[in-house]
Amino acid sequence: MKSRSQALEEHIGRIKTKLTRLGELRPGVLSEQYNVCGSPTCRCKADPPHKHGPYQQLSWSRKSKSRTRFIKESELRTVRAQISNYKRLQGLVGEWVDASIELCDIKRKLEREK
Ligand SMILES: [Zn+2]
Repeated sequence: MKSRSQALEEHIGRIKTKLTRLGELRPGVLSEQYNVCGSPTCRCKADPPHKHGPYQQLSWSRKSKSRTRFIKESELRTVRAQISNYKRLQGLVGEWVDASIELCDIKRKLEREK
């Protein structure tokens, strides 16, 4: 029968393989934004206002800095895939850490029982 530690080692091996196959990464969240322009007679100044948009905006934070960027319609697919890859990376790293903690505890216990 396969030991728990063996199963964990195999699980970690599969996580590592998945990590090497991840494509482009981007942290962030997409949101829809509506804007007003500079023209005083534009429909966005009407009552009720008819604002321009929606525009897709990507917000992310990195090294304690928050940033935003507008994403073109033509870039949306790629950016969505990058965001999804990034989430996957975080999920896999979380799984690896959990498996590793359990594996380290098993090894530590075995070491002490010697
Ligand atoms: Zn306008």
